[in-house]
Amino acid sequence: MAAAQDSRRHGRIRAVEAAIKRLDTGEFGWCHSCGDSIGQKRLEVNPTIMRCRECAT
Ligand SMILES: [Zn+2]
Repeated sequence: MAAAQDSRRHGRIRAVEAAIKRLDTGEFGWCHSCGDSIGQKRLEVNPTIMRCRECAT
């Protein structure tokens, strides 16, 4: 149980680190799949999100 929680937390840290890296490279806010804008609202809900609404579904 504790190990599962640990790995979940670790995954979240990795996602945040990846988001910061995308900020550095200018890729933040752009869909990883189609290259379109992800959208301000989606990023406010989850800044580590990597895909637009179209590609996430
Ligand atoms: Zn997309």
